[in-house]
Amino acid sequence: MNVNCPTCKKSVEWKDTNPWRPFCSERCKLIDFGAWANEEYRVPAETASPDDLDQGGDTTRH
Ligand SMILES: [Zn+2]
Repeated sequence: MNVNCPTCKKSVEWKDTNPWRPFCSERCKLIDFGAWANEEYRVPAETASPDDLDQGGDTTRH
């Protein structure tokens, strides 16, 4: 049985010895995880303004 890697679309053999299934590799798994993580973090990380510094762990303002 083969599946397509969600990240790079490469055909991947689905087997118990592949710890990254349905991804083809650890890299593709991390890229996929990072894809949704970046949706949350990319803006404040790169364009932090002084107003953002007092947020701490409280993001309920969003
Ligand atoms: Zn892949």
